[in-house]
Amino acid sequence: ASIERINLTQLNESLPAMPLCMVNMMTRLREQHHLRYAGRLQLGVFLKGCGLNMDESLRFWRTEFGKGAINSDKFEKSYAYNIRHHYGREGKRRNLAPFPCMRIINDRPGPGEHNGCPYREFEETRLKQALRSIGTDPNAIPVIAAKAKEGNFQTACGICFASSQPGIHAVTETGMPEYIPTHPNEYFIEARKRRF
Ligand code: SF4
Repeated sequence: ASIERINLTQLNESLPAMPLCMVNMMTRLREQHHLRYAGRLQLGVFLKGCGLNMDESLRFWRTEFGKGAINSDKFEKSYAYNIRHHYGREGKRRNLAPFPCMRIINDRPGPGEHNGCPYREFEETRLKQALRSIGTDPNAIPVIAAKAKEGNFQTACGICFASSQPGIHAVTETGMPEYIPTHPNEYFIEARKRRF
């Protein structure tokens, strides 16, 4: 199997390799069967970067939305355009690149939205709960929450990586994680390397 690219059938088994921003949107999507525009965009281009082709992406969103109030007619009318747009098949035909951390961190969610970086957006209790839910080493959770509070969001994410992904993780002399993510797709590939 390829580490760099997954297809739709590998999506579920690949969830544990995703960073918290994407886990959060996947979870909300599966609970609410909907995501607002900014979330669809952030998650959509991430999944594209993970390897899903346009037809698989359309199937993925249609299925998840279909479990709620949006049937496939409504999906075609109101949402399919956006998904095709991620692949450059609509609008200005620009092939959208997946967003790096800095863009996600600065794309702050409004009410009812789930885009953005959880290390920035979640208050402490919610962040700790989210970290527990993805199996982060309990000893690392207060350290991660402290880094997030200081505004070192990517460092917090790097400690989460080191404390939730399998394998031995190097730490520098200053106690910093050796790997600090700059892009969620890079996180995903790094995590998958440790799972094969
Ligand atoms: Fe996502 Fe980057 Fe924030 Fe990690 S630091 S949760 S990869 S935006």
